[in-house]
Amino acid sequence: MCGVVGYIGNTPDAAKRAMNILEELQNRGMTSSGAAAIVEGEGIVPRTKKGSVKSLLPRLEWDELIGNAAIGHIRYATSGYLEDAQPLVRRIAGQKIALGVNGDTVNIDGKSVAEFKESIPIAWSADSDTEALIQHVARTPGADLVDRLVSAFSQVEGAWSLLALLGDGRLLAMRDPWGFRPLWFGQGRDFFVFASEDSAFLSADRAFPSALDETREVHPGEIICIDAGLRPQAWQYLAAAERLRACSFESVYLKNPASQGVFDFRRGCGITLAREMQEHGLVPKDIDWVVPMLDSGRDFANSFAHCLGLEVACVINRTRWSEDIRVFLGSSPLERLKLAAKKHVPNRKALRGKRIVLVEDSILRAETLRVVISQLREIAVREVHVVVGSPPVQGPCFYGIAIPTRQELVAANQSVPEIREFIGADSLYYLSLAGYRENFQHLSIDGFKPSLLAGVDVCDACMSGDYPPFVPAGFTAMARAG
Ligand code: SF4
Repeated sequence: MCGVVGYIGNTPDAAKRAMNILEELQNRGMTSSGAAAIVEGEGIVPRTKKGSVKSLLPRLEWDELIGNAAIGHIRYATSGYLEDAQPLVRRIAGQKIALGVNGDTVNIDGKSVAEFKESIPIAWSADSDTEALIQHVARTPGADLVDRLVSAFSQVEGAWSLLALLGDGRLLAMRDPWGFRPLWFGQGRDFFVFASEDSAFLSADRAFPSALDETREVHPGEIICIDAGLRPQAWQYLAAAERLRACSFESVYLKNPASQGVFDFRRGCGITLAREMQEHGLVPKDIDWVVPMLDSGRDFANSFAHCLGLEVACVINRTRWSEDIRVFLGSSPLERLKLAAKKHVPNRKALRGKRIVLVEDSILRAETLRVVISQLREIAVREVHVVVGSPPVQGPCFYGIAIPTRQELVAANQSVPEIREFIGADSLYYLSLAGYRENFQHLSIDGFKPSLLAGVDVCDACMSGDYPPFVPAGFTAMARAG
């Protein structure tokens, strides 16, 4: 779970502009953040920091980062140590390269990342798979760095939406042929920008010298290269996969609601959820309020409540300081429980004696819900029903989302009635997989036709068990519990 941005133009403040855009992607990471700029006379200069973009910005000396091209990266650690902040800067065949990657690598040249690293007897300076990718590029022959990158990534399986800055002034973007992670491209007068989400371009007034003339997704398997003279070139370095795999979970939980398709997808899932519960006669009686579980539950909750003629009440709020907290990324069970209890503040007076439906976007470990429902019981909420806007998450992700292991995923180990009991709810209903897939029409990759039946352009492997053909050795997808 990461975010990347890139900026190249004809003014010397590319790093500042890139960081302004990166701030708009804060929803995608807070483990570390970083920038790399091409500085005249010095080549590529990186600056990285543990923590959010907010914590990086005051520490950047802008006069050290004067140049017309820059990339930025924010990171949630899905592999490697916290110290593995990006962009990573290395030297390949005498030329510096800075790399910022959103995604995870499954195989390099037929080997797992661990096997690949074992096969190369060097002292690995970073533990993330991005270091392995750079070493792979360094060992792949090619006339220049772009040729090496293209050849190297032709032998990689996994997810990558990456930005690279080359020492000769080029900025380039590459997306894997399956389209797992998003990557957007924008073009204005005398400048080009890239960002993981199109909503980040909304900061254009502040970050760009003029309005963007055009925006579009970088296509699966496409490379876009802008040289120092601001001449763009785009081509398919790999054919797009016959079956694309745009990650649906991004739109459930991670993406900014203002990004393309996210609001419509969440709203559609909320409507389908209400319809399914009505069809099965499972809508709880005499409900006072539908209560969203913070921001990502809100769009599901609004449409769900509207369909059932119920009122939405935002009576569970977040503490002000908790803006950046993602409870499920806490490093230990105890830390996650503490974060969950601190993050959620129920309105005690308003909730006492009420019958409510809590709307969650998804459930992973169920620890947060368990804590919140126990808080609600303490303040004498009469009934707590839980509905979930996506199907049970039963398997891990190998393609760049920090979903826990199968051992930790509650739906991989317990039935729905057992989960209901575990969280202490009066009832629990998940959106069906078929209902979830009905709404994939909102998630098509720009420029590619969605194939709606069975969502063949969209990944839902962690929910359906329908994994791509490449998974880590030893992994077998579990049969859905139904
Ligand atoms: Fe997204 Fe789940 Fe697929 Fe991973 S497995 S890419 S989280 S839908």
